[in-house]
Order: sequence, then structure tokens, then C-alpha cells
Amino acid sequence: MNRRDFRRILGLIVVLAVLPVCRTTPEGNMVDLALINTKIWTGDAGRPWAEAVAVRGEKIQAVGTTAEVRRLSGPGTELVDLGGALVLPGFIDSHTHFLTGGFALKSIQLHDAKSREEFVARIAAKARELGPGRWILDGNWDEEQFNPPELPRRDWIDAVTPDNPVCVSRIDLHTVLANTAALTLAGITRHTPAPAGGEIVKDPATGEPTGLLKDTASDLVLAKVPEPTFADKLEAAGASLRHAAEHGVTSVNDMADASSFEVFQELARQGRLTTRVHVYVPVTEVETLARLRMKSPFGGAYLQLAGLKGFVDGSLGSATAYFFEPYADAPDKSGLLHGQMFPEGVMERRILAADRAGLQVAIHAIGDRANSLILDIFEKAAAANGPRDRRWRVEHAQHLRPADIARFGRLGVVASVQPYHLIDDGRWAERKIGPERAKTTYAFESLRRAGAALAFGSDWTVAPLDPVMGIYAAVTRRTLDGKNPGGWVPGEKVSVEEAVRAYTVSGAWTQFAEGAKGTVAPGKLADLVVLDRDIFAVPPETIGETKVLMTVFDGKVIHGKGR
Ligand SMILES: [Zn+2]
Repeated sequence: MNRRDFRRILGLIVVLAVLPVCRTTPEGNMVDLALINTKIWTGDAGRPWAEAVAVRGEKIQAVGTTAEVRRLSGPGTELVDLGGALVLPGFIDSHTHFLTGGFALKSIQLHDAKSREEFVARIAAKARELGPGRWILDGNWDEEQFNPPELPRRDWIDAVTPDNPVCVSRIDLHTVLANTAALTLAGITRHTPAPAGGEIVKDPATGEPTGLLKDTASDLVLAKVPEPTFADKLEAAGASLRHAAEHGVTSVNDMADASSFEVFQELARQGRLTTRVHVYVPVTEVETLARLRMKSPFGGAYLQLAGLKGFVDGSLGSATAYFFEPYADAPDKSGLLHGQMFPEGVMERRILAADRAGLQVAIHAIGDRANSLILDIFEKAAAANGPRDRRWRVEHAQHLRPADIARFGRLGVVASVQPYHLIDDGRWAERKIGPERAKTTYAFESLRRAGAALAFGSDWTVAPLDPVMGIYAAVTRRTLDGKNPGGWVPGEKVSVEEAVRAYTVSGAWTQFAEGAKGTVAPGKLADLVVLDRDIFAVPPETIGETKVLMTVFDGKVIHGKGR
């Protein structure tokens, strides 16, 4: 070996020796995204608070001080100085109607139309936007907003909608206004008799339909609305995803029919899902899923079949929530069981079958008797099938007898509750259930103390998809009418930390996903939300004004700063 060869070999040895070292130099270890100078509530008991977080790929690489995270950054790192803003794990909304919500977002908004002129102008604008032939639906109009209040009529809007059928609903969804084009499609004339349980409102002077249709009469028109196309559904889902990103929501449970899978599956395939979607399908599908040997949760990090959703009763607003005692304002009524409870015993058989198959169930129960009934069924199923990690969920768990609050804890049942409903319904709920039952209504703190897992959600589109408002509602319990500044049933307020936990850590746990998300910790999915103020420190009554500055999903900034 001559000297030149020796040098060449020596050089090669040096290169080989250095190569592995190169991989561990700061440059090789660079993170993709670093959020520094923040205040992070991590939800991680080992390190509850931190100052900076580093993200590599779709996961969190490090959580620590700004100096520590700076050391992991290089020229390729997107370094975001948040100037002290608050960072939380991405919000998990445990109860939405996610695809439906997208349609509502795209529809006409009439709930704040303040006059007949505004009402007509908005419908005219929508008709121009959509073009001839397309239906104008939803709307949520409220004639109490007009000055003076007056019910709308089809002749207000016929001139601006000659080529668009219109069927816009009142805010309570029990009345619609149809235009002449829609009435014609449905074949409704002055001679059409009202169907059972409905009313075709007719002008007392002329006998002609005014366009207002109540309850079952509205179905005559709605039956003519074409099923949305797949492209329409994709567009609606896209609107839902953008809306979720704006509110820092990085995971949702979608209480859906099985058809929403097709839509979210396509978006997942295209890499366009920017929130993790966990779909609950109707409990009536239990045999199909059990036959396929599907277990909860089935799927990947973006889209899962989470389990089965069922109903025990109706709602408080329509006096169909099922109670032990009659309604305070309707002594002859104590609510109704849902059709899924018949024939008797069928819900129990389905839950037993779901449990044997390893499928999680999420059952809607609002009245105290409905909640008691579902807890009875859960108790029997647990006794029959033996111990198992089930994480059964009761959706809403709105009105509870004190003894049943304790059972939530004892049985380890998840209370999947929606704080916004409490500040909304709280305006009138006591009129319906009286003061005694009100004491254990939306009993979040008692449920938590009893050891139940508390998961928060919105029930969007019934309430806004806005966790900040949910936190505000749970922490203050100030009803929307301003009549309870100290909180309605103030003993049931929860702390800001518990409210945030119910939107993050607990939400993940109830999805069997605590190993993957819900906290800001190394190895977890990088789903994060940045808020413009420290909700742990501001006066609670101002929490509702908080803005989402930035949303990170799967390691990428999908909303706000840095995008
Ligand atoms: Zn719902």
C-alpha cells in the first residue's frame, strides 16, 4: 500500500466513522415545527406545564423549555414564537353530527334576519348564488326577531325565487315556510287536507296556503328534496373540517348513519381529513358489525368506527325526555321512550350482543328515568358478560337522580355531556322540571366527584362547535338570558382545568385513544390548539371571548399563525 492509497483508505475510514455521527448532529435531528415562548397545559401528570413543544412528522418529539426546544431547531424548522400564548392539546368534541353540520354551514342563515326586507333579501341572494333549480333549505328563521313580529308568507319570496324551491325552517324546526315552487312540486293546493299531526296554514280570507307548514305537513315538501350527491357531501364535509380547524377541534365523534363513512373515507384517501373522525353508527347495526368481528375502535389514526349509538328517549324541549315524575308544566306527561326501546327488551339484547362482540355503545338518555333505565341495562350486561374494559357512554346524561350519579362512577360509565346545552336550556328548563329536579341537572361536578369520566362535546349542529364556549358554559353556568350571573345550580360548576381535561384527556380516553393523543407529551400525535389568552387566569366570565390563534393537526398548522 503506497502513501496515496493509505490516505484514501484513511479518508474512507474517517467518512465511515463520521457518517453515523452526522445522523445525530443537531441538523439531522431537526424538528419540523417548534412552538416556543408559550404556556402549555399538557394534561400530562408527569409534567403538567411547559414552555415549548417540538414536533417532528405527525408526532410530538419534545416538550420542555424554550431553550431546550430551540436546540432541536435548525434551518428547516418552522419556529413559531407565540409570545406567551396558551397551548392546549387539540380539542376533542365527543358528540357532533359532523357531516350534517357541514350542510347547515353552507345553507342560508336566517336566524338573525331582523326584518321582512332582510329575510327576503337573504333568500333572493341565496337564489342568485345557487342558480335555478336548486333548493333553499334550513335557515332557522325566527319571526320574533322581526319588528313587529310577523309570520312570513310565501308571497314575500315568490317574486325572488321563481325557479328555486324554498323550504326554510323556523328556529324550533317545527314549522317551515315553503314558496309556491315547492308547494307545486309537493302538489299542495287549497284543497289538500292536512296530514295527521300536521297543519297546512291557510289564509282565512282566501283559503289559499300561506306557505307555512307545521310538523308532519312539512314532510310533504321535504319528501321532494333530492338526496344530496356524493360531491355535495364531500363539499359539506370540507366545510365541517374548516369550521373545526377554526375552533381548534382536532378530533370529533360523529353520531351518524353509516353513509358518512363513505365521505370521510374518501377524504382520508385524498389526505384531506384535518380532524380525526370517530363514527358511531346506529345500534340497530349491532348484528352486522358483530358478524364481521369488528371491535371498537376499528380503523386508523384518521378515521375509525368507534361503536354504536342508540336512544332511550327524546328531548326536554319537546317534552319527550323520559322522567319518573310528570313535567311541572304538563302534569299529564312524563316523556316518551324512543322507538329503539321497542319491542320491550330489545335494547338490552342489543347491548349485551354489542358487549360480547367488544363494541362500545353510546346511548342517548336525557330524562332521569331514561338514564336510570340505561344504567340498569349496563349493570345487567356487565354481570352477564363479566369484567371488561368497556368505557360505555351515556350521551347527554342530562337529568339524574342523586343515586344514579353515584352509579355512573361505580359502573365506570362515561358521561358524554354538552355544556352549552345547559346555558341554553337553563333559561327555561326549571319551568319544565321544577326546582327539585333542577338541582341534579347537568350535574357535571357531582358526576366527576362520583368518579365518572366526563367527556365534553357540543352536539353540533344543535349547539355551536366551539369548545371555548363549552368551557365557558361549564365553568360559569351563566345562562344565555343573563339571568344567572352567579351560575345556574352553581354547585355544579367545574374548574377550568377540569373543563379542559373533559375536552382533551378524557375525550381521548373515551375513544380508547389515550395512548395516542389527548395530552402534549413526547410520542403523542401533534394535535394542538393555541389560544389568544390564558383561560386559566382570566376572569371566567370573559373566557367566551377567547380566540383560537392557531390549530396544529397531525404536526401541520391547519389554521392561523404560521400557515
Ligand atoms: Zn346529538
